[in-house]
Amino acid sequence: MNVRVPVIGLKRPDSRLLWGLAALVALSVFLIDAFTPLDIAIAVLYAVAVMLVAVTGNRRATLIVAWCSVLLTLGAFLSSHDTDYTDASIARCAVSLLAIAIVSVLALRNLASTARLVEQVQLLDMTHDAIVVYDMDDVISFWNHGAEELYGWTSAEAVGKRVHELTHTQMAVPLAHIRQQLLATGQWDGEVERTRQDGTHVVVSSRLRLWRDRLGRPRAVLATNNDITAQKRMEAELQRKQDELRAAIDAIPGMVWTSSNDGKLEFVNRRWQEVGVFAADIGGSKTGAPPDRDIWSEIVHPNDLQGMEQAWRDAIALGTSFEYSARVRRNSGEFRWMHIGAEPMRDAQDNVLRWYGVNTDIEERKRAEEALERSEALLSDAQRLSKTGSIAMRVDSGEMSWSEEACRIYDYPLDCTPSVELIEARTLPEDLPIMQSVSRLALAGEPNIDVEHRLCMPDGSIKHVHFVAHALACKAGSSDERPEYVGALIDVTEARRTHEALARSMSELAHVSRVTTLGELASSIAHEVTQPIAAIVTCGDAALRWLNRPQPDLGEAAQSITQMIRDAKRAGDVVRQTREMAKKRGPSQSVLDLNALVGESIELVRRELQNHRATLVTQFDPAALQVCADRVQIQQVVINLMMNAVQAMSSLNGGTRRLTITTRLLDEGQVMTTVKDQGTGIADTDSAHLFSPFFTTKADGMGMGLSICRSIIENHGGRISAHSPEEGGAELRFVLPLFKPVEQAA
Ligand code: ADP
Repeated sequence: MNVRVPVIGLKRPDSRLLWGLAALVALSVFLIDAFTPLDIAIAVLYAVAVMLVAVTGNRRATLIVAWCSVLLTLGAFLSSHDTDYTDASIARCAVSLLAIAIVSVLALRNLASTARLVEQVQLLDMTHDAIVVYDMDDVISFWNHGAEELYGWTSAEAVGKRVHELTHTQMAVPLAHIRQQLLATGQWDGEVERTRQDGTHVVVSSRLRLWRDRLGRPRAVLATNNDITAQKRMEAELQRKQDELRAAIDAIPGMVWTSSNDGKLEFVNRRWQEVGVFAADIGGSKTGAPPDRDIWSEIVHPNDLQGMEQAWRDAIALGTSFEYSARVRRNSGEFRWMHIGAEPMRDAQDNVLRWYGVNTDIEERKRAEEALERSEALLSDAQRLSKTGSIAMRVDSGEMSWSEEACRIYDYPLDCTPSVELIEARTLPEDLPIMQSVSRLALAGEPNIDVEHRLCMPDGSIKHVHFVAHALACKAGSSDERPEYVGALIDVTEARRTHEALARSMSELAHVSRVTTLGELASSIAHEVTQPIAAIVTCGDAALRWLNRPQPDLGEAAQSITQMIRDAKRAGDVVRQTREMAKKRGPSQSVLDLNALVGESIELVRRELQNHRATLVTQFDPAALQVCADRVQIQQVVINLMMNAVQAMSSLNGGTRRLTITTRLLDEGQVMTTVKDQGTGIADTDSAHLFSPFFTTKADGMGMGLSICRSIIENHGGRISAHSPEEGGAELRFVLPLFKPVEQAA
């Protein structure tokens, strides 16, 4: 069925032609009516003239033509009948007039409705929307100004064409479906893509309405189209931006979330999948998830949940930032510490609109914090037990920090601010120069500082402290070259007291040992003294004899007296040395010649050597070997080693008994004394215990000699050792630091 829809865009025929035709018809009718004897109602044809004028759309002209037709009809009637009015002529005139009147009224009414229609069409034309009307074959019958602007074709070009062919319509759903929906519901709304006259594409939002005639037959489709290309582009751009933002949010190494102002989760990023929560789980019925699902209670550790919920409720009530640390369960079931933080977003009236939150994994930090706390506690305990405090100081600013134990050692309140002045206030006045030298060394950038000094505490007690510090490397870019020092302050009061007590005990033990040795040497020493005395007596007698001669020989007498003096000195030296060794005294060091020291010691045991038929060989270094030592203690060591050697040799029957004593410069800073014998030697099993207290292989031995020797030598900064030479016997060596005059001057 090909039903044409009335063309709404009205096009008037040429008015002049119509006027001409109307005038011709009217004139013809009047001439026939007035001047021909025809007895027909020819005046009826005036209606044709009225209709012709009406077609021009001019209402006034139509009215005038209608009245003129009436007047011409009446005029022709009067003129053609004079007074001879028949009923038939009157009836014809009346019919004509009636016909003219009816046609005129109808024409005027038609004009009025046409005018209204034109107005409406003009209004439709004025709208910015593209309005297109096409019939059920898609043939365009109306194409408004908006459509011209949107698609580029003029109304004249578009009308009569098939709309979808003209604009190459493309849509998401097949055309047949749209037509089906139109027929079923009378309307269809959607988006279509079309091609303009210039070939560019346009996306339009199209609203289709089906028009049916009075019989209900579908006749035409009214399409209202809006260009949404820009909107579509913006939507696409917005979507792209949203996707980018989403990707960025998903890439954040934290669980990002938003919630409504009342705290209900609305969005979660992909990281939440690690705790088993998906975006689809959020948002209630909209996404199919149960609306009252409490995600937090599912993932937060039960022990942390209550506190977190309370804090969250408080934050929502007050609208303040939310922060909480809680354990959150991951997919693996493992709980990890997380920092849960959220900030409110507010509107212009300061009302909270929603919350933006991030959960950050702080497991590693938490562990590090715990480890740090533990190690700090351990360090604090260790410092307390070892009475060692730590002190750090920046040389440039004088800024200082110290540990609790350092504060306790100085006996200051724990909250006081550390400073050099506080340290100096506690330093014993006599030791203040030591502290000042520390400051000087620090300012000079000395890498290591190591000093001992004393503190005078508020109760008058004295503390001994040992301070060691080490310079840290300067920070790169620092303008000041002076470093930061980190040091340890050790309370050595106890150690010092113990050391002193030990030194005292050692000294007493050494004394006892010396006295014991003297006891052993008593007969030898007595012999060493009585022999010179006997020699003195003999020399005295000889001197007297030389003098009592009739001719006194003064030369011989003088020689005997010189001999007497030498023997007396020798006896005096032995007595002095014996007294020295027997005296109870504290250690006192002085600079001594090692060779002389060893020589003096030999004198005391010389007789003992003879008694045991031992031959002494001495090999002294010709250089002056100066040591800073306690004379008596070092002699004690030499005598002890010699006595052990003699005893080791005397237990052997036969063989040579040579005792060799050697002194020599070991290197730049040390001298070594060796006592070597040809005795029993040292068994391998004994060598490890030789210097231990109470180790002896002798029936009447105490086993303290070598132990005391080691203490003495180590207290002098040296070392002692025993060796077994290949040729047999034993060799005991002790090494002492060489005295350096320069060092003392420094
Ligand atoms: P004591 O002489 O009272 O035994 P020492 O401490 O002086 O105590 O000596 C410990 C032990 O070392 C001796 O008992 C001996 O066994 C061994 N000893 C020391 N010197 C020598 C040596 N020159 N030759 C062999 N053994 C030695």
